[in-house]
Amino acid sequence: MQVPFLSLKDVTNKYKDEIHEAALRVIDSGWYLQGKENERFESDYANYIGTKYCVGCANGLDALVWIFRAYIELGIMKPGDEVIVPANTYIATILAITENGLVPILVEPNINTFQIDDNLIEEKITSKTKAITIVHLYGQCAYTDKIGDLCKKYNLKLIEDNAQAHGCIFNGKKTGSLGDAAGHSFYPGKNLGALGDAGAVTTNDEALEKAIRSLANYGSAKKYVFQYTGRNSRLDEIQAAILDIKLKHLDEDVLLRKEVAKQYIDGIKNPKIILPKITNWDQHVFHIFTVLCEQRDELQKHLESKGVGTNIHYPIPPHKQDCYRMWNRISLPVTEKIHAQELSLPMSPCLTNEQVQYVIKCINQF
Ligand SMILES: *Cc1c(COP(=O)(O)O)cnc(C)c1O
Repeated sequence: MQVPFLSLKDVTNKYKDEIHEAALRVIDSGWYLQGKENERFESDYANYIGTKYCVGCANGLDALVWIFRAYIELGIMKPGDEVIVPANTYIATILAITENGLVPILVEPNINTFQIDDNLIEEKITSKTKAITIVHLYGQCAYTDKIGDLCKKYNLKLIEDNAQAHGCIFNGKKTGSLGDAAGHSFYPGKNLGALGDAGAVTTNDEALEKAIRSLANYGSAKKYVFQYTGRNSRLDEIQAAILDIKLKHLDEDVLLRKEVAKQYIDGIKNPKIILPKITNWDQHVFHIFTVLCEQRDELQKHLESKGVGTNIHYPIPPHKQDCYRMWNRISLPVTEKIHAQELSLPMSPCLTNEQVQYVIKCINQF
């Protein structure tokens, strides 16, 4: 049997007729940017997340870049200010901070949840700290009341990287509505994926919304009048139309992911494998199903030889990358352990029970 890590073809085929209809509607309309499809998707996505505003943009990295840039333009942050961020995030979160001349302060995650360790944040707060960025990594909620309280106590912005967690819920509220602003990616492999690049910012802050809408459109709110040195970072009409369809099916797809995760958690009995510990099933949408294994590379080869595709999220932590050479000597043991031992199993709303049971069997044989 073959079990791909993720078949985007299957994911798209599930809603093929609706997607074709939407793409053709836009093609035939003769209107391809900044039109009705963007308006509809932004309004539907803001409703879904539970914020007043949603601004579509070109991709998830830009969404995060625009949040920090807008805070700078609004005079709330300035280059040199510090932003707390989990050390084990995907590099985009950190790139968005450094691109704006802000200083990322890396904080270790909790090894059980992979999320930023809220016990380690307060000691990192200085007079230069302006924000805490949380990343709902792998699809699991990173927000805690303690983080919310720290933001209030020290007057910090709370920024969410919701690229991996569309549909995730904390105490009845969606991630992406828990802080001051959130960046979302609709990269094709994400839980809510476009058929190309796309992203968005959600917020309740009107000034931030206006600044980001302008920044992502050359820094212009009025045609040929430029307020900021922005960039072209627009979401196109075809992607917006496709995203609006996939948004309608997001909750059912998240439930299917949870079914796959339950089967893995119930079925994997190999003592060499450490499974994720799920204490609240609302708070995880299983963008990625992670296991830890000391013999991770052997496990990956074993599964590959059985036709099971896997992935590593991520093999090299940001502080060990060449682009951040100044941090290469920092020691972050929890982050480094995750990067050395993490393996991501096949996960998609399109996996069959037979495929999932086959993966479990292959893992238990290892
Ligand atoms: C995918 C991702 C991004 C960036 O999204 P793009 O759309 O690829 O630019 C940012 N942060 C995290 C955590 C991601 O997984």
